Amino acid sequence: MCGKTFILTDKIEFFPDKDLEGELNFNFRATGYVFNKTLEVSIYRENLVKLGICTESEVDRIYTQKILKNLKKQKPFLKNAESTCLQASTDRLIKAYNGFYDNRTGRPHFKSLKKNPVISITLRNNEYSTKEGMKSTLRWEENLFRLNKLGYIKVKYKRDIDGKIKEATIIKENGRWFICIVYELEKIQPREEFKNSGLYVGIDVGLTDFLTFSNGKVIPKPDLKRINGRIQYYQQKIARQKKNGSNWKKTLKKLHRWINKKNNVVLDYYHKISYNIVKHCEFIAMETLNIRGMIRSRNLSRSIHEIGWGKLIEMIKYKAQWYGREFIQIDRWFPSSKKCNVCGEINHDLDCDERVWECPHCHSILQRDVNAAKNILDEGLRAAGSTVLCLVDFMPIGQGKFLYHYEWKCFDETIGMA
Ligand SMILES: [Zn+2]
Repeated sequence: MCGKTFILTDKIEFFPDKDLEGELNFNFRATGYVFNKTLEVSIYRENLVKLGICTESEVDRIYTQKILKNLKKQKPFLKNAESTCLQASTDRLIKAYNGFYDNRTGRPHFKSLKKNPVISITLRNNEYSTKEGMKSTLRWEENLFRLNKLGYIKVKYKRDIDGKIKEATIIKENGRWFICIVYELEKIQPREEFKNSGLYVGIDVGLTDFLTFSNGKVIPKPDLKRINGRIQYYQQKIARQKKNGSNWKKTLKKLHRWINKKNNVVLDYYHKISYNIVKHCEFIAMETLNIRGMIRSRNLSRSIHEIGWGKLIEMIKYKAQWYGREFIQIDRWFPSSKKCNVCGEINHDLDCDERVWECPHCHSILQRDVNAAKNILDEGLRAAGSTVLCLVDFMPIGQGKFLYHYEWKCFDETIGMA
């Protein structure tokens, strides 16, 4: 866990003046232009391949760099833009194409101002030599952050992070400007605040109960009823107003404020949950969620998007790393909810909406989510391997019989391997 390089992103709000805002908007347009042109040329080449005129077909770094070089020759205005962010935008296209080649996503789309606008640019860090030695293009100077050609920006606050700056992304989000600075840390020292707690949990995620723990604890969803109501109200209001009129602009501002509020409430809630889980639990096992598949297969896409499990799991993951806890994600195909935790029987007839069920083999009455969380914990411990056996000793007595249950199982498997 330690020794690996560790990536940390710090997101800070900043307030650009009119000049800088103009510069940034120009760079947004330039990256969009480069993205579209590269995509256009790539599609043209695909057609040539289809006709048998051309053989190569993958969009890769060498190819996009060739296109970028030619574009810069043809369109001199691109020279005024940040060169690293142009390259980053072609890298984004490569990423989009890779997803398309692996059948993970659809074909990359063109950027347009209305439907699919560019909302962020990424600047890479480069080093250059000066009389005083090597300097980075992205760096802190006191409380100002230097952004290459774009000059210095004043940020709301500065966090002291001892790491190498890799890149910085500027995002325009609902009318506010943010900079995400990506640091690479050589080593992360597990923090010593949390001592061995001896608590081992499996966590099941669900729509009815947001998080269910293997010890029976349940954490509810963030309460967004009021905020969603306000967002809906302003969305309906703005739809009736004349576009770009003064009232329309006022409503848009209010709508953005409520959307921001919602994001902040959700993020705050997730940070608190993930911090507390990592604080209290030494070993955390979760499922690998197939959120994409869930959105496609059930009519729940809206609530799933709202919940944003992916973000929460990411938070638990990095915090576990940060605080030296063990975090394991078990296989997506593991039948966590259909398996009886007491005898191991798999109940294939289990319905999606049955909250409590009886095992057909050993006749135990099982609570669906708690049973799933226990299975996730067992499977996580099994996946963690032999270290678990010595960790079992730390387990406090009297946390339910499932503890002894997997102690026996692990022991059995170790014997089987020898
Ligand atoms: Zn059973």
